[in-house]
Amino acid sequence: MSSATTMNDSFGRTMRDLRVSITDRCNFRCMYCLPETEEAANFYRGKFDALKNPKPTLTPIVREWKPKSALLSYEEIERVVRVAVGLGIEKVRITGGEPLLRRDVPELVARLAPIAGIRDLAMTTNGSQFASQAVALRAAGLKRVSFSLDSLDPDNFKRITGRDGLRAVLAGITQAKAHGFAPVKVNAVVIRGLNDHELERLAGFAREQDVSFRFIEFMPLDSGRAWLRDLVVPGREILARLQASFDLCPVVSENKSETAKRWTFADGRGELGIIAPVTEPFCGHCNRLRLTADGKIRTCLFSLHEHDLKPLLRGQADDAGLAARLREIVLGKEARHHIGEPGFQQPERTMSCIGG
Ligand code: SAM
Ligand code: SF4
Repeated sequence: MSSATTMNDSFGRTMRDLRVSITDRCNFRCMYCLPETEEAANFYRGKFDALKNPKPTLTPIVREWKPKSALLSYEEIERVVRVAVGLGIEKVRITGGEPLLRRDVPELVARLAPIAGIRDLAMTTNGSQFASQAVALRAAGLKRVSFSLDSLDPDNFKRITGRDGLRAVLAGITQAKAHGFAPVKVNAVVIRGLNDHELERLAGFAREQDVSFRFIEFMPLDSGRAWLRDLVVPGREILARLQASFDLCPVVSENKSETAKRWTFADGRGELGIIAPVTEPFCGHCNRLRLTADGKIRTCLFSLHEHDLKPLLRGQADDAGLAARLREIVLGKEARHHIGEPGFQQPERTMSCIGG
């Protein structure tokens, strides 16, 4: 039912979850997101040899980041979040690019954490800079963090992310646990031929470390536009592999908007989840909105159109005007994505700018 205090779309979905990207920059170059070279972007063409054999064959991809003036300030982000929370948003996730590359992120957390109505304030990070900021982020009011970790093999980690960062990410996870972030989640994008041989090892890590590990299907949001259906390891296949190795008990959830199907280990330590947006879409229950670092609202990961809030934020609009605009935007939210269908168009904006 429509109400002036919530954001409802034309399919009866009410928005509860806002993901806020605070920078488009990243210090990693994950092949499935923001590949560093033409060879990495085209990894599916079996060019791993070129990656092992450095220098002359590696053709760098030149990137342009948004200038600082194009990014929303922390004041502007806080304002959008306050207004959105006034319209029913309960969950807020800070993301990027790599969010911790932006200065003074604890200051933003401290602005958002006290907003009455936010039930859940979280962050998604590649973890490379987390260890040194864990204390400040926790003190500022961040409660939950999700790390990205696609491999436990230092060489494969470097091949996937373009950086020698495994040790720093593991240190970040250790610090998150030590400083009371709970639950600590870890996400891996599973790609056939790239890291699917590590599934069982990553699941074992979840139990050893007592963390919640999510396996995510590869989506066509990579800047290299290398996505191919054959590279997607379907959620069902992931589950069958995990069930063959571990004694798993399904977790029954009341929350229909939850994207992950979850399992606990029989001994109760750690948790596994599978997020299968490609082979088992959950669009029908989607309650998410996304705010990009440059102030655009995206109503779907796969939106071909964005809605710029900057003219309102930097113009004369008051909060009521901003709220009215948000409600209007949500009315146009897409019914679902069309991955794999004829005519599917990959959006111009890639995951590195949308933030997951
Ligand atoms: N840099 C941070 C990180 O890596 O956690 C936050 C931004 S990143 C874009 C957010 C999430 O999107 C990560 O968990 C990443 O693995 C995931 N991601 C990036 N590209 C993806 C793709 N093509 N398909 C599925 N997930 C992807
Ligand atoms: Fe950076 Fe995250 Fe994309 Fe990797 S997934 S390139 S860490 S934004």
